[in-house]
Amino acid sequence: MSTDVFSDALNRVKQIGESADVSPEIIEGLMHPKATMTASLPVRMDDGSTKHFTGYRCQYNNVLGPTKGGIRYHPDVSLEEVQALALWMTIKCAVVGLPYGGGKGGVIVDPKHLSPMELERLSRSYVRAMADFIGPQTDIPAPDVYTNARIMGWMADEYEAIKRVKAPGVITGKPVRLGGSLGRDDATGRGAYLCVLELAKKKGLNPAETTVAVQGFGNGGYHAVRLLQDAGYKVVAISDSQGGIYSDNGFDVNSIYQEKQRSRRVRAVYCEHSVCELVDHKSISNEELLELDVDILIPAALEGVITAKNAANIKAKYIVEVANGPIESDADPIIDEKGIVVIPDVLANAGGVTVSYFEWAQNRAGYAWTLEEVHQRLEHIMQKSFADVWELTESENRSMRDAAYTVAMRRIGQGIEAHGTRDYFNS
Ligand code: GLU
Repeated sequence: MSTDVFSDALNRVKQIGESADVSPEIIEGLMHPKATMTASLPVRMDDGSTKHFTGYRCQYNNVLGPTKGGIRYHPDVSLEEVQALALWMTIKCAVVGLPYGGGKGGVIVDPKHLSPMELERLSRSYVRAMADFIGPQTDIPAPDVYTNARIMGWMADEYEAIKRVKAPGVITGKPVRLGGSLGRDDATGRGAYLCVLELAKKKGLNPAETTVAVQGFGNGGYHAVRLLQDAGYKVVAISDSQGGIYSDNGFDVNSIYQEKQRSRRVRAVYCEHSVCELVDHKSISNEELLELDVDILIPAALEGVITAKNAANIKAKYIVEVANGPIESDADPIIDEKGIVVIPDVLANAGGVTVSYFEWAQNRAGYAWTLEEVHQRLEHIMQKSFADVWELTESENRSMRDAAYTVAMRRIGQGIEAHGTRDYFNS
């Protein structure tokens, strides 16, 4: 890629905004992150030494509500990446109509190299640095790549210790006993699955004849293909950061998940209870997985995996972006030209933040919803959002990504214009 991930994200907003006649003032407003905090995070390591990690938090845009978005732990985290992810959260929350702006956080760290106690100290150190920047009414973090419910629980606990008040609404994705919501654990994958069901209605897909490949077997990817398999889809390829497996016959997703929990690797197994046996398969690389001849490709790992270089080799008919930003903007025209339908990240993976919103609403009301209520409300929001985007793809003959960005920019624009437009003040 010639530009960094944030410039690429800005280019996309600009291009789509201009082609959809979004007012230049609104586009300009989206070019500038509202505030970004960089902090050094001292952590006492198990050997007694102190290490300093770098942490970021970006509050991108809060026109529609407090900023919202996860915290990522990854060695490749950078300021630009956090800003790009925070911009995408701004668009995402608007696409699904949540009363939120967008934010994101990150720490440059490989959590696989930390002990559980070092991980806890790092998470608490992050909150000590950010305690005056985040808050239930201002900026609400959540899990992202390599962070989870336990980490959210430590972070909420640290915030409450600093503020000397119970404030579960400061962070979402917490363990259920600590104020988390039922249904938050699989919400990202479930949201993507619900999008595929809507797509299947539009395109007349027959699950039994529809093959699926997933790149990335973390929380989002696993639950998406688990639910798709339960609905009859055939999951023929799965990978994680170390490589992947392929089989024409399809895999049993839960067996592979069970084995991954045990051995930390994606292995081609079929399990009866705790007994797992290897099954026929081909080992493939992550790059090969992207180019498989399947119906639905689900990139569910990191950003920038489909670029202008490999886009022409993609054979899938549909791409469901469970990861944030897996397709670079200069690959968009190549993908569109090939007639591939992309359900963009800002819609496909919005189930996570949607149930985060439910969690926050429950924390504020002091009232817990049943799992059925969470599932029903998530389904309603995903179906409605998919329909809003689809309608624009048809009425304005645009890709789903363009349509989703347009829906979001128009909503953010309405928020800005509600304070008065240039014409209003000049008349
Ligand atoms: N990190 C997730 C995302 O990228 C969830 C954010 C949230 O729940 O606030 O959408």
